[in-house]
Amino acid sequence: MIVKPNIRGFICTTAHPIGCFENVKRQIEYIKLKSKSELKDVKKGGLSALIIGASAGYGLSSRIVAAFLKGYNTLGIIFEKPARKNRTATAGWYNTAAFEKFAQKENLYAKTINADAFSKDTMQETANIIKKDLGKIDLIIYSLAAPRRTMPNKSVIYSVLKTIGKPYENKTINMEKKEIFNIKIPVATKEEIENTVKVMGGENLKDWVEFLKNEKILSNNANIISFSYEGPELTHEIYKNGTIGKAKQHLLETTNTLNKKFSNINAYISVNKALVTQSSSAIPVVPLYISILYKIMKEENLHEETINQMYRLFNEKLRTPVELDAEGKIRLDDFEMLPNIQQKVELAFNNINSSNVEKYADIKGYTTDFLHIFGFAFSNINYNEEVDVNIQIPSIN
Ligand code: NAD
Repeated sequence: MIVKPNIRGFICTTAHPIGCFENVKRQIEYIKLKSKSELKDVKKGGLSALIIGASAGYGLSSRIVAAFLKGYNTLGIIFEKPARKNRTATAGWYNTAAFEKFAQKENLYAKTINADAFSKDTMQETANIIKKDLGKIDLIIYSLAAPRRTMPNKSVIYSVLKTIGKPYENKTINMEKKEIFNIKIPVATKEEIENTVKVMGGENLKDWVEFLKNEKILSNNANIISFSYEGPELTHEIYKNGTIGKAKQHLLETTNTLNKKFSNINAYISVNKALVTQSSSAIPVVPLYISILYKIMKEENLHEETINQMYRLFNEKLRTPVELDAEGKIRLDDFEMLPNIQQKVELAFNNINSSNVEKYADIKGYTTDFLHIFGFAFSNINYNEEVDVNIQIPSIN
């Protein structure tokens, strides 16, 4: 099949298997380059990590760093689709196939469960694999970005990206047309706020930790890391003070509760940088902010992608004593939030309009990163060639 990008709004409905392979390969190569001097200390397979949301974005990069920098056995939970009839698989499916193949080559343990991370059956399946193969889990990365959650009674609830209290209007961008226009973001109902918290808040993390504890398969002093975002004032109405921010606040509170309840775990929130991922591209206003941020951080030589962020998390931020902010959070968004960066972003955000988009925003960088997520726009890949889309994930098939 010849696979081309099929973009609908902020979603690409196709993924290129060789391109996704390339995406994973480049991240692994970066880590190998970084880890040359450290590898002598790494005992492969000494420790085990469970990555919930392991197939894309921050979860995929953290899995790569855990395995290729720190030598962890990795068990990933993903929710992806294999290829069917004349449709490609999802990018996360191909990424995971690529990750496992690279891990196998290095004799690194890697298994993946493709199932709903909200389901008790998935937790049980995970426990069975841990008991059989790994003994205990030393690190949990909770990197779920889910639009919905199926509840135990089979009803489905949705997370929404809305404001709380009052409607909000601000600039946003149509990336394809490079047009800036105003968008009105509606106010969430009480039920929408509650549902967003149930999907993206801490309840499911708490269920996982308690389940693994009860099964006695969480190591003493296990690290548990969940991801959050805060951003500058100009995104607060849609993010920090909106429905998703409410869920992230719940995630933080859950982390504190878990630390109190279990004295022998270290649960952390890592506040990460805004980056192009499948999830962030769906948030109104944020893609415009990200494309401006990219331009400024690249000019200042401070730009990072998910793999750079996860490298810094493992290599710097998790070193004991772990450095935390006043609310107890790890700040991986430290470069993004530097006052001189944010002053420039604000100025650009105020000045940008449809006639000067390229002057203020890194549209090319944003678009390329978006296409890379789905395995497109790699200059060394011939996208006019037929490609086999039926790729298997070794531990699943
Ligand atoms: P992503 O869309 O790239 O990846 C989401 C992952 O969740 C995928 O592996 C997907 O398979 C998995 N997933 C979704 N629903 C699932 C389900 N029901 N069961 C099992 N797996 C499921 O997302 P991302 O942007 O890397 O976000 C990961 C986390 O990082 C989120 O908590 C997000 O809020 C946070 N974060 C993101 C940014 C950003 O700018 N992208 C910044 C800071 C923090």
